[in-house]
Amino acid sequence: MLNVYSITATAENWVHDAVYAKVKSALEALNSGGTAPDWADGMHEDLADREALKRCYDAFRAAAEGLSVKQRTKVLRVLEDQNNIPAVFDGVTACLRIDATPARIRKPTAALFAAAFDALKSLKVRDRQYQTIFDTLPGKCCPFCGIEPFESPGLAREDLDHYLPRSLYPFAGANLRNLAPMGGKCNRAYKKDQDIICDDNTGQRRRCFDPYGENWATVSLMASRPFEGESVGPFRLPAWQVDLLGDALSVATWDQIFQIRHRYLSEQAQCAFPRVDGAFRILVQRAGGFHFDTGRGDRRLRTISRFCPSVDSRRRRSLEAGGVRDAVPSMCGIGCL
Ligand SMILES: [Zn+2]
Repeated sequence: MLNVYSITATAENWVHDAVYAKVKSALEALNSGGTAPDWADGMHEDLADREALKRCYDAFRAAAEGLSVKQRTKVLRVLEDQNNIPAVFDGVTACLRIDATPARIRKPTAALFAAAFDALKSLKVRDRQYQTIFDTLPGKCCPFCGIEPFESPGLAREDLDHYLPRSLYPFAGANLRNLAPMGGKCNRAYKKDQDIICDDNTGQRRRCFDPYGENWATVSLMASRPFEGESVGPFRLPAWQVDLLGDALSVATWDQIFQIRHRYLSEQAQCAFPRVDGAFRILVQRAGGFHFDTGRGDRRLRTISRFCPSVDSRRRRSLEAGGVRDAVPSMCGIGCL
């Protein structure tokens, strides 16, 4: 991904914490021969009277009561595995899927954590999480692709992706550490229900970026070859080369899931010179939310050189003189996050 979210956006994780603690205490109490607690016992006051959560918890508890100690111990392990974030993103740390648990506990688990996820919305935790993310995110666009703009808080909500998909890892279904705002295309057309930490084609675990972590990727088109690609009207496009730079294994997962190279080549980097403003705007946007006032000719090139002070003076003169040959790869290489 091209950026990461501020970890402060996950600070208000009390809904998850409360449900996690309740489920854990129920399983442990049953395993030690005791009685699982009622929903309202010691529950956060904003959750204690929520009927949907109480009903779902009662169903989970009833299912847990029907399990053996060994089976409940397995459920506890899966609960802990699935919330061992960010360790499970490293491609190695064990993380059992829900199908490792007895069949009878799976539906109640999915329903309980789905109800907890719904509570995040009605308690406006989601809104506050997004506000923090929007306020601190350079460029205000989807960091999973760098293409989709993010709407301001209060407008239509961006998708909130279950990074570990809830169909496989429902115990993390309301954990803010696992919930990442994501553009609709990235979420619904590319990532969908794919397992970010395990390649279903090979069965192999894979490393991935942590949306709230400290590492991300950059995109470079600097190795592209100007005027060696296909022709569009009177213009010859560069032969684009999209290089994704960063931790190689995480980058590979990112590209596999979100089809980054493919999308850049088909949507973005295939900008002919007449349409270069569009590409430049996107690249500048990714570089920090700079609002590009679409200009023409010299004005556009002056904007380029202002925005890219690191361009050496020879190249800047070339840009300002209308050096089209240098302009496209320079813009593309410098603007990336
Ligand atoms: Zn996106």
